[in-house]
Amino acid sequence: MADQAFVTLATNDSYSRGAMVLGMSLRNHNTSKKLVVLIGQQVSEPCQSVLKRIYDEVRVVDVLESGDTAHLAMMKRPDLGVTFTKLHCWTLTHYSKCVFMDADTLVLSNIDELFDREELSAAPDPGWPDCFNSGVFVFCPSMETYGKLLQYCTEHGSFDGGDQGVLNGFFNTWATADISKHLPFIYNLSSIAIYTYLPAFKQYGGNAKVVHFLGKTKPWSYTFDPKAKKITGSVHEATEHPTFLMDWWTLYSSAVVPMLQEQYGEKPFHSGCVERFALTLDDLRILCPKHLKKFQYCDMLTFESDQGENFSSLAQELQPELSSEERKEKWEQGQADYMGMDSFDNIKRKLDSFLK
Ligand code: UDP
Ligand code: MN
Repeated sequence: MADQAFVTLATNDSYSRGAMVLGMSLRNHNTSKKLVVLIGQQVSEPCQSVLKRIYDEVRVVDVLESGDTAHLAMMKRPDLGVTFTKLHCWTLTHYSKCVFMDADTLVLSNIDELFDREELSAAPDPGWPDCFNSGVFVFCPSMETYGKLLQYCTEHGSFDGGDQGVLNGFFNTWATADISKHLPFIYNLSSIAIYTYLPAFKQYGGNAKVVHFLGKTKPWSYTFDPKAKKITGSVHEATEHPTFLMDWWTLYSSAVVPMLQEQYGEKPFHSGCVERFALTLDDLRILCPKHLKKFQYCDMLTFESDQGENFSSLAQELQPELSSEERKEKWEQGQADYMGMDSFDNIKRKLDSFLK
């Protein structure tokens, strides 16, 4: 239906990546609903362009600049910046019903049936199940509700400092409401729940329809090697929801990164994807003929590099006090610091750590 939409929010480029993956996951599961993303002004041009390719509507919301009541509310409660921005979703009155989804959620199957629910439907929060988690909720845009929400916000603030506190305060009958407003947990399966109740996850996790990467470390905080299909970063956390995290990165690297590359063109950007590449003895002969002796002990060196970069990044890895440009130049001129930072021992240590 044309007057129903999935809505998300991204105030910066990092969350935009989440929104891109979320949008793609909704499209891949053939949603018949419109897709809307609210963005902050900080979102860069290339990211906005990619969002426009995925979403039907990309709407810039800037609470600070808007001369409306949201601005006044914001002046009183500057701590609730992103929260006020999120509440903007109630102003999308050209839709009769919407489902808000955090930018750190990923859809695993078609969830259009959520539009059968009423405002405000949401799933329980894994930390305090009498509260709903505000990462996925069904709502009905209305300027009247929007005004009341802003007023509530300025008068009562948020007990947790974010939108979840405000929304639970405002829709405070949710816990005792009709059971139809309680979405099953599989519509907002947070990664936290996986290790707090592992047996339940083993029993029901396979039914998950939406996974929510709630918490400090977001999928885009890691790095990913698409060829080896390996995620690196805060690895201890990565193991808590490994397959969902892999789903996120697989979709991001295969569908989103190519679009970002197209938009950034020649401009450098960090996709978060790294490539492992190998230097053969022949490469080293060309790269640094004078110092070949140092490399005679190994046939091949393997290094990680950001996509699009060449092996000069090896030198960048090894010599952090030089700017990347300087280092690249030196390395390419065969003037790497072989006795110091670029010495064989250092390279070997790096190599060992990669191979581990
Ligand atoms: N958000 C944003 N920019 C920010 C922080 C949050 O756009 O700097 C949006 C984004 O849609 C995000 C949602 O607000 O998914 C809620 O924040 P987050 O997911 O980080 O909170 P959590 O789910 O971890 O409690
Ligand atoms: Mn979230």
